[in-house]
Amino acid sequence: MHVEGDRDVCVGAGMCVLTAPDVFDQDDDGIVKVLHEQPDAGEEDVVRQAATLCPSGAVKLLS
Ligand code: SF4
Repeated sequence: MHVEGDRDVCVGAGMCVLTAPDVFDQDDDGIVKVLHEQPDAGEEDVVRQAATLCPSGAVKLLS
């Protein structure tokens, strides 16, 4: 799995960070930063959940 955070569409809701704090962070403006673009297999479920919960569709999952 490869994870991207589209900083142009992120609205800073923070759901990704709450759901998968080891993979996502937010900068000082609240915009998403991806800490691990290739998360461990054990993190994939929470990353998928974060993508589902993100209100702006900024979390993109590529296989
Ligand atoms: S959940 Fe989506 S909109 Fe909210 S900070 Fe994360 S990427 Fe941005």
